[in-house]
Amino acid sequence: MIKNFINGQWTASTGRDTVDIVNPATGEIINKTPMGGSADVDAAVQAARAAFPAWRQTPVIDRVQPLFRLKTLMEAAAGDLAKQITLEHGKTLTEAMGSVRRGIQMVETACGMPTMMMGDILEDIAPGIDSQAVRRPMGVFAAIAPFNFPAMVPMWFWPFAIAAGNTFVIKPSERVPLTQIKVFELMVEAGLPAGVLNMVHGGKETVDAICTHPDIKGVSFVGSTPVAKHVYTTSATAGKRVQSLGGAKNFMVVMPDAVMDKAAPTALESIIGCAGERCMAGSVVINVGDEAEQAITERIVASAKAIRVGDGLLPDTDMGPVISQAAKDRIKGMIQRALDEGATLLVDGREGVDDMPGYFLKPTVLGNITPEMEIAREEVFGPVVMLAKADSLDAAIEWVNSSPYGNTTTLFTTSGAAARHFCYEVEPAMLGINIGVPAPMAFFSFGGSKQSFFGDIRAHGKASVDFYTQSVVTIHRWIKDSSIW
Ligand code: NAD
Repeated sequence: MIKNFINGQWTASTGRDTVDIVNPATGEIINKTPMGGSADVDAAVQAARAAFPAWRQTPVIDRVQPLFRLKTLMEAAAGDLAKQITLEHGKTLTEAMGSVRRGIQMVETACGMPTMMMGDILEDIAPGIDSQAVRRPMGVFAAIAPFNFPAMVPMWFWPFAIAAGNTFVIKPSERVPLTQIKVFELMVEAGLPAGVLNMVHGGKETVDAICTHPDIKGVSFVGSTPVAKHVYTTSATAGKRVQSLGGAKNFMVVMPDAVMDKAAPTALESIIGCAGERCMAGSVVINVGDEAEQAITERIVASAKAIRVGDGLLPDTDMGPVISQAAKDRIKGMIQRALDEGATLLVDGREGVDDMPGYFLKPTVLGNITPEMEIAREEVFGPVVMLAKADSLDAAIEWVNSSPYGNTTTLFTTSGAAARHFCYEVEPAMLGINIGVPAPMAFFSFGGSKQSFFGDIRAHGKASVDFYTQSVVTIHRWIKDSSIW
């Protein structure tokens, strides 16, 4: 059974119930996560609280030194980390390596904290009076992570928080905690003082203990929309800062002038990459007009059939399994209900997968998707391509904006005017032009709109400094003593 990491020590959880950590490619149980509770959270928070005064007083240039060392250690261990991700999550080694790279970029960007957290100063706001604003760390922060990016998502938060002088508690997904444990082992090697960074394991009880703990200043959450809402309201009611990133339904619009040989594979990769288990995954492809629909359908159907599904550890695998049998059953159920509602089955990814070990689905391609269908409205989080048609760009934009979600949307076109109109009118907050997964990099900030994001300050990049610091303004007036000078 895995352990919590509290005050620099791997410590047994108080939780007695466990959740299996399963390799989704084989169904094999590889470890167990204890379902901790408020006692575990409190122990971690007290360690973080005790570490805060000394860490806050550590100059920022010294605070980022362990992060510089972590970057080097993560580069050296990148292959091992990627393998660990594939073992506990199922995505391919190439996909896993991409997410490790993104995790490393968070560390690199957080190393810029000496510049990022500089304040402002203005002389003579009134005669002889100066004013300055400094950005001050606040204390203990916490984050709660989802299953789909075991290395990257937790690292959207804690490198920035600790570089800014806060101390931290992370709760990884109970389904995929092993990669983050490896990262913590590297962080210990990098020489981070005890108590600055802590880890607790568990599920709802642990999350609720974090959201209500009086000594936690702010909470970051990434996961499904219902839990994101719950974390947002519970933490805000307890007086905390909150940034809560939820689920998604990401539309991709194809104009007839798009470069179809690029648009089709880019859209397909967006949808089936990581077996569709990405909050930035494309879902419904809205083709503008018959010509675009025909061009995209032909290409996607042919390519989807050629995707090689299997164990992500094997080099010729294009797509790994989904996370669990429950996820597989849920996705199959959504496909069936879409067919019952009138969708056409162009490629059936449910065929030939039940004899494979693990939780495999092949890519499914559905045509004739209309806005009122369940599958056009709800997040699938699986490898299902939904093909649809709109009569005009404005009709497509209206469909995109009718979704309660607002994570990302993409337009494929060669027209600057169409691109400009699209970006100006759509409501999601992370936009792509001819890009399948327009995920902001570490030095930009990440977060959607509407039901995909609850809060005001987004994750990583410059926004992280706003989230992890309190602005303190001081106004100085010094009376001149003319007897001395
Ligand atoms: P999830 O909501 O089931 O779990 C996320 C976290 O919340 C886990 O740590 C889990 O232990 C905890 N949790 C689960 N149920 C809870 C409850 N009832 N009360 C309190 N805590 C609870 O999400 P998941 O299945 O792990 O991840 C997939 C979801 O995450 C998808 O909806 C995906 O779109 C979303 N996601 C969003 C982003 C984003 O940036 N917006 C990024 C990655 C994933």
